[in-house]
Amino acid sequence: MGKRFQAVKGTRDLLPPDTAVWAAVEATARRVFGLYGFGEIRTPMFEDTELFTRGVGESSDIVGKEMYSFEDKGGRRMTLRPESTAAVVRAYVEHGMHALPQPVKLFYIGPQFRYERPQKGRYRQFHQIGAERIGGGTTAGGRVQADVEVVLMLWRFLRDLGFEDLVVQMNTVGDAESRQRYRTALVAYFEPLADQLSEDSRRRLATNPLRILDSKSSAEQALIEKAPKLAEHLSEASRAHFRAVCDELQKAQVRTEVSDRLVRGLDYYTNSVFEIVSAGLGAQNAICGGGAYEGLVEELGGHPTYGVGFAIGEDRLLDVLPAASRAAMMPPGPFVVRVLGDAPDLALASFSLAEELRSAGFGVVDLGDETPAKTYAHAEVHRSPAILVLGGDELQQGTVTVRTTADRAQRAVERSQLVPYLKLLLSSFSVVSPEVKS
Ligand code: AMP
Repeated sequence: MGKRFQAVKGTRDLLPPDTAVWAAVEATARRVFGLYGFGEIRTPMFEDTELFTRGVGESSDIVGKEMYSFEDKGGRRMTLRPESTAAVVRAYVEHGMHALPQPVKLFYIGPQFRYERPQKGRYRQFHQIGAERIGGGTTAGGRVQADVEVVLMLWRFLRDLGFEDLVVQMNTVGDAESRQRYRTALVAYFEPLADQLSEDSRRRLATNPLRILDSKSSAEQALIEKAPKLAEHLSEASRAHFRAVCDELQKAQVRTEVSDRLVRGLDYYTNSVFEIVSAGLGAQNAICGGGAYEGLVEELGGHPTYGVGFAIGEDRLLDVLPAASRAAMMPPGPFVVRVLGDAPDLALASFSLAEELRSAGFGVVDLGDETPAKTYAHAEVHRSPAILVLGGDELQQGTVTVRTTADRAQRAVERSQLVPYLKLLLSSFSVVSPEVKS
């Protein structure tokens, strides 16, 4: 026997029937984002390393320790994308999208790569569904509208997936001016306490003191509690923007909470930042994060441009998807056809029955002459709504015996009535489409 391989640590296979749920969640995203005029963008899986060091920020954990970077055979430094905002903005600039009517609205769905310690809900290859609204926002009102629209779209998406126990945690990290003031205040507060800080936090004190507030270390919580608050250092413009965004969201009946500790791990955010948390997830409870970015397009070679976006962790989203939605997203499987005996005319008849049903749009697994036990096992694994049995008697009488899985009832159905009968049977199954309305 050859060497046995396993999926690399932190990666995993997604298998049927789960993949049907993934596909249905993604179909819901495409549908809902389409309602807001977002179109899909597919960027490459790897980019120049420098795109991320500049775009995500040198002081972020992603760039500091989590990137999958390598040198290609031409000696270029490449990185598997750890997130997609930088790549989407790169594409916006590269394709001169600033010349299109603004804003440009793009969404993406796909894998991301980060070298993190694998644990529940945390992988090295994981998946994100995200959206970026770039451009527009040239007036104060336009910027409020931009932030609100993106959060509303996200909220609608999660509601359509059947979530009810969600809260949008909102904060503002201020504009550049507020940030600078706050940074000075934080350094002045933490510096005398440096010997009580973890190594990570000490490093952040020099690189990005705001991120100390994000620390999960329990030993530091008391110090963080007493630290100066960003709210006390906000410029009047940032304060007014944040108030307006929260007001609009409340009017739209989005459940929001102001969380002044929320700073997000990426360096490019300005003003509004948000996360959506779900009660079911414990420590890794954020299924989604996002915010506005005012300097990123310029940082990546474009004109100063307002942007706002989010990324949903699809793996975690699926972990906490309400059970009813999950069940509704698993369509009934194919019918199973079985023949009684190995007579050539029976084999031929089951073959043509299977093809006839496929032409009518039904999925069919043709087992041939299989034992009852194995037939039931197939029906269970495939979640078949019914087993169709063809024997000598059925052939002679022009019928098929249909044994429905749900109640194990068995009845002879005329061949001419089979298609309408199976249609009726399928229609009694719950939702087949991904739209789940609560
Ligand atoms: P971020 O890009 O860090 O803002 O993350 C956005 C969302 O992606 C988070 O809320 C998580 O749900 C998800 N996410 C981030 N890192 C991982 C990971 N290593 N494994 C699984 N999901 C992740």
